[in-house]
Amino acid sequence: MSTPTLHSALLIDGQLVGGEGVAETILNPASGEVLCSIAEASLEQLEAAVQAAHRAFPSWSRTTPAQRASALLAIADAIDAQAEQLAALEALNCGKPVHLARQDDLPATADVFRFFAGAVRCQQGQLAGEYVAGHTSLVRRDPVGVVASIAPWNYPLMMAAWKIAPALAAGNTMIFKPSEHTPLSILALAPALREILPAGVLNIVCGGGEGIGSSLVGHPRVRMVSLTGDIVTGQKILQSAARTLKRTHLELGGKAPVIVCNDADLDALVQGIRTHGYYNAGQDCTAACRIYAQAGIHDRLVSELGEAVASIRFARKKDADNEIGPLISARQRDRVASFVERALGQPHIERVTGAAVHSGPGFHYQPTLLAGCRQSDEIVQREVFGPVVTVTRFDQLSQALDWANDSEYGLASSVWTQDLDKAFQLANRLQYGCTWINTHFMLASEMPHGGLKRSGYGKDLSSDSLQDYSVVRHIMARHGQQLD
Ligand code: NAD
Repeated sequence: MSTPTLHSALLIDGQLVGGEGVAETILNPASGEVLCSIAEASLEQLEAAVQAAHRAFPSWSRTTPAQRASALLAIADAIDAQAEQLAALEALNCGKPVHLARQDDLPATADVFRFFAGAVRCQQGQLAGEYVAGHTSLVRRDPVGVVASIAPWNYPLMMAAWKIAPALAAGNTMIFKPSEHTPLSILALAPALREILPAGVLNIVCGGGEGIGSSLVGHPRVRMVSLTGDIVTGQKILQSAARTLKRTHLELGGKAPVIVCNDADLDALVQGIRTHGYYNAGQDCTAACRIYAQAGIHDRLVSELGEAVASIRFARKKDADNEIGPLISARQRDRVASFVERALGQPHIERVTGAAVHSGPGFHYQPTLLAGCRQSDEIVQREVFGPVVTVTRFDQLSQALDWANDSEYGLASSVWTQDLDKAFQLANRLQYGCTWINTHFMLASEMPHGGLKRSGYGKDLSSDSLQDYSVVRHIMARHGQQLD
């Protein structure tokens, strides 16, 4: 892989400009080495970005769906054209194996732009009609205004697409802030975005959460804030948004339960959890991390999954051999390690495999499987956001269902059984934004993704997301009833 060019310019009002705020050091988590430093936006630059989005709103919001679709398709083409470079940057900045960034993140990112380009041209809604005699009513869906979108570090470019594509498709203008840890891929795309979009329609500013992030959220011209991030960040955003009564769209954490029935296909399950519990080093809000295994399959599952997890390849010199990367930072790795240490301090929890910081460069943590966990354990209740999966034994399905739903989180879940009747009975009762049956983690641009409870509200992907980024308006015309 040739070293990709590192871009540091922000996109403000159609111009690529260097940040004038403090410099943030950007690391390669796979090696711990410094890649570069990126200067954040200053408060003046943030103001300029918001004002530019505000100025661009009247004309962008009146473009036709076809015009906006054509811009989104051009963005998708630009992503394809730069895919090698963008995959290399994603790998460098997140430590992901580059072949996975190339094969998973990049096509999925381009597809999101293509999906919204199509979806915005064929939205459906209520019929126009005479609901009051002599008056015709119709419903419009209009954009909200200036949207501030704030993204996390786990899939930088894909999260950018999830936020930017529906907001622009719906006719909003926006300011996008990537995570302070992972700005490189979206900054590399900024020159192409500048060519495609009119000035001010999309502004990209870098900066930390408490500084630039909270100033953006508090800005009175911003009408809506969309966040993918931590629950605590969501709470702060809600408090700030209350002052100016902004709309909010919150995609927060997850702690996905995986209910395994006695009749599950064990091979498929082991392969599924090996992949979907540990993908991206478990830094995924839908990661299959909380297994409830029925007594009849429990021991075989623990033994076979233990072996499978121990075989996950990571931290190898040859990147193409790796199946997962490191944690994003030393802090995140140490946070994961302390969760596991506390868990293993409980006499009933058994280490099946892993449970140690990898010795060597970078922020790697061994893929870890813990068995004997109980519902009340911290490791079962709290989001670890690392390569750690727990197993809890159960006897009755009703017990597993109660435990699965006994969580502050409500994003994703899965059920594993060969009995479709049982599968649907469980799936229909799970209080999660998504339930997979005999798989986990699979997303489709056409289908909604989002949580319940403290996992937040609002949907990413799908035409539901277009609705979240728009407002319904009623127009009624009085026209009498007598023609002659
Ligand atoms: P984070 O909340 O620390 O940061 C997310 C973003 O919010 C960053 O850009 C950060 O700069 C910004 N931010 C932080 N404090 C802010 C503030 N006070 N005001 C405005 N912006 C602020 O989260 P993270 O550590 O980057 O990501 C991990 C979290 O994201 C996990 O909890 C994970 O579950 C969640 N996540 C959820 C989804 C989902 O779809 N539900 C997807 C990916 C990640």
